[in-house]
Amino acid sequence: MAEIKKLETAKLMKKVMADHFYEIDAAVKSGNPKVAWCTSVGPAELLRAMGFLVYFPENHAAILGASRAANDCIPAANAIGYSPEICSYLTSDVGAYLKGFTPLAKIYDGIDSIPKPDVLVYNTNQCRDVKDWFEWYAREWKVPCLGIESFVNVGDVTKDHVDSIAAQMKKLAADITAATGNKMDEDLLKETVRLSRKCSDLWKDVLEIATNKPSPLTFFDGTIHMGPAVCLRGTQVAVDYYETLLKELRGWVAQGVAAVTGERHRIYWEGMPIWGKLRENAKLFLGLETCLVASTYCNSWIFTALDPDDPWNSMARAYTELFIVRDDDFKGEYYRRMLDLFDFDGIIFHDAKTCPANSNCRYGLPQRFSKETGIPFITIDGDLNDLRCYSEEQAITKIEAFIEQLDG
Ligand code: SF4
Repeated sequence: MAEIKKLETAKLMKKVMADHFYEIDAAVKSGNPKVAWCTSVGPAELLRAMGFLVYFPENHAAILGASRAANDCIPAANAIGYSPEICSYLTSDVGAYLKGFTPLAKIYDGIDSIPKPDVLVYNTNQCRDVKDWFEWYAREWKVPCLGIESFVNVGDVTKDHVDSIAAQMKKLAADITAATGNKMDEDLLKETVRLSRKCSDLWKDVLEIATNKPSPLTFFDGTIHMGPAVCLRGTQVAVDYYETLLKELRGWVAQGVAAVTGERHRIYWEGMPIWGKLRENAKLFLGLETCLVASTYCNSWIFTALDPDDPWNSMARAYTELFIVRDDDFKGEYYRRMLDLFDFDGIIFHDAKTCPANSNCRYGLPQRFSKETGIPFITIDGDLNDLRCYSEEQAITKIEAFIEQLDG
């Protein structure tokens, strides 16, 4: 059976992520610079421009999922009242803390725990769970928890939306100064937004390399290489990383290297990854000569609205026009654009039990899209971290039947 092809740049990513965690760990131990926690699509640029190092607990939760430690941790959070039905990133992460466990200690010599922050900063643009998650730690550590209350189910993003979120961001910066003493540096904000936009543009180019036939990149590769776009956007390190990755991928395209040898089908993945089954699923699709060429998930860290000449309004727009914030009409139109771009044969919707915000198959959207475009779909029941919600056998049977249907 064909093997999963590894990009050389993956080695660089290990170093980049190790440097990220060691830098934050050293800052916590020395007390300088201060550390802020931020939600994955929260105002990272604002925090960097105020002098914080930024830590993303969703990244930690994904590591808990990918290393399959999540299932041992979730019950500890359930035991203190956090339902098994809510976000399993939250329950994995809080459960791990309650058990005194972090995979970071296993991976990185000298790191003993997750970093205790000086401030926790959320944006509810993705869901309410992130606020509940951060508030738990705020109570535990007695540190301030501040954030932005976002709009949801947005159709067109209007000036009113942008004005409102930009005003909240400015107030947030003032509240952070009051809570921590760190002040906003407007020049640094422009520079951080510039770097973040550059990172976003490069990440977009990386993902759109999969428009090539055959594609040199799969969704599974994307979930690995997105680390710097999530954790290091707004820094030169992330820009350098994606320039290196893009160069290698362009080399693969020039040589006709396919991520999936003999690529016969191209599929769009809609929803969260099943972190604990990434490798198994990558191999399954490899065996079926099917490439998952694109996903809403990996695209979530593309922020094309960011503009260093108008940092506040452009941050407000970028973090409001995200797919997850939008209504179903927008989402259907978005799939049509993705179809034009990536020319896929079918869509797999992942119904992630504990993440309704990223499960777009519950209100008839797949059926409407399929009717309009003729693109077939299936729905897989599973979860991002809680593998008790995922029936692997059933998923494999469904996927194999789907590929047979596409063959027909
Ligand atoms: S979007 Fe989903 S996975 Fe992410 S924090 Fe919210 S509920 Fe959890």
